[in-house]
Amino acid sequence: KQADIECQMVVIGAGPGGYTAAFRAADLGLDTVIIERYDTLGGVCLNVGCIPSKALLHAAEVIDAAAHASDFGVTFAKPKIDIDKLRAYKEKVVGQLTKGLAGMAKQRKVRSVQGVATFVSPNELIITGGDGKTQLLRFQHCIIAAGSQAVKLPGFPWDDARVMDSTDALELAEVPKKLLVVGGGIIGLEMATVYRGLGSEVTVVELAPQLIPGADADLVKPLASRLKAQGVNVHLKTKVVEAKAQKNGIVCIFEGDSIPGTKQFDRVLVAVGRSANGGKLAADKAGVNVGERGLIPVDDQMRTNVPHIFAIGDLVGQPMLAHKATHEGKLAAEVAAGEKKSWVARVIPSVAYTDPEIAWVGVTETEAKEKGLKIGVGKFPWAASGRAIGLGRTEGFTKLVFDEATHRVIGGGIVGVHAGELISEVALAIEMGAEVADIGHTIHPHPTLGESVGMAAEVFDGTITDLY
Ligand code: FAD
Repeated sequence: KQADIECQMVVIGAGPGGYTAAFRAADLGLDTVIIERYDTLGGVCLNVGCIPSKALLHAAEVIDAAAHASDFGVTFAKPKIDIDKLRAYKEKVVGQLTKGLAGMAKQRKVRSVQGVATFVSPNELIITGGDGKTQLLRFQHCIIAAGSQAVKLPGFPWDDARVMDSTDALELAEVPKKLLVVGGGIIGLEMATVYRGLGSEVTVVELAPQLIPGADADLVKPLASRLKAQGVNVHLKTKVVEAKAQKNGIVCIFEGDSIPGTKQFDRVLVAVGRSANGGKLAADKAGVNVGERGLIPVDDQMRTNVPHIFAIGDLVGQPMLAHKATHEGKLAAEVAAGEKKSWVARVIPSVAYTDPEIAWVGVTETEAKEKGLKIGVGKFPWAASGRAIGLGRTEGFTKLVFDEATHRVIGGGIVGVHAGELISEVALAIEMGAEVADIGHTIHPHPTLGESVGMAAEVFDGTITDLY
């Protein structure tokens, strides 16, 4: 059958992985098509993930800073929140970026097609548009970048609008009086921070014994203390066993260590993880293996078991982060274009944009202990940072993890305001095989929070002389 569209490269999904791959492929001379089921490019990250959540977190941060200004004698009136304006601000931020992407696609002559793609053979896809019309596309290379979606925990009344996933919560329909957040991971806690800032009474339940289970416990502690001080109720080792929609709210029954029993909430956000979309593409028609939980196995060049079909981003596995997806997208496009490259992920920073922020990269102390690695740790408390004291935010600290024998940096973690902005230096140090002395000898500007990275190295090296 005659194809409606022919191309050298097709990318399925226009999230950070997909658009980066498509742009790179086009830059390398491949005639490229990108298929996206929604009407804007940008995927989860730009439309309903990283970007809108950070726009709302900014508002929460300003509200909180104003509340704390009385510490230095400045008092503001109680904030008045115009939720429609806040929503419009968030949408403007998102729109600016997604429009920018559309322009960049056009500039590169990447053809963008709206619809849902499914494989019909190793070189063909069917694209089904919103109107039900189909187009057959024939390709030489394909990059699958169909991402992930929120896990809809069974047992919740999902047909009730008061039960939300992260996408619903970002819609900002209202500021509920009482909000339950199920899941104390990064996404759950970021949304808890937003809604608390806007005035909700927030309760968080987490099954694990600590919040953000992937991070070292010491990094999480300052966040847990601040949440407590702000009146956020956190219940660890606790689960919701039943949730019922009633006229006046969602009634939840809990089970766990600090059993809160039965409580009623105005809204419930379920943020218990994301599942990969690999199982929804009829990948078997192309001969592509799909593994457990919709994840697609790939090699160190992002190739699936079918050599001309690549897979990247959330649907190839953890960590499900935008900067991992973009890196993989670039690699897959370059390999498809004939470049001889490969990549093994060692250094992917993770950041919780909570208040305080938590950021970590490389080997965590917990992992090092589990693996029996011989490590040294340099830890610098922000209580000794002039900048942190001036900001009134001394609860943070910076730690570096070194290989005991070589003194090379193998990991690091930072908790404190703007930790996410500071972690890249540690990532660079690991990538470059830096030793403790390289960081300690690097002159960091004073007084900055970034200085704490240099100080942590000096603490480990025993060369620290002046704490302020
Ligand atoms: P996605 O962004 O999921 O994009 C996949 C795209 O494919 C989607 O647009 C989808 O519509 C489309 N698609 C799927 N199937 C088909 C099909 N068959 N045909 C056509 N199109 C299809 N990460 C960070 O690094 N930093 C953050 O601060 C951060 N914050 C987040 C906050 C929230 C609330 C959420 C939910 C996620 C956040 N993430 C963050 C994670 C980040 O959004 C993802 O890791 C990232 O979007 C993954 O990119 P991707 O390209 O793999 O796929």
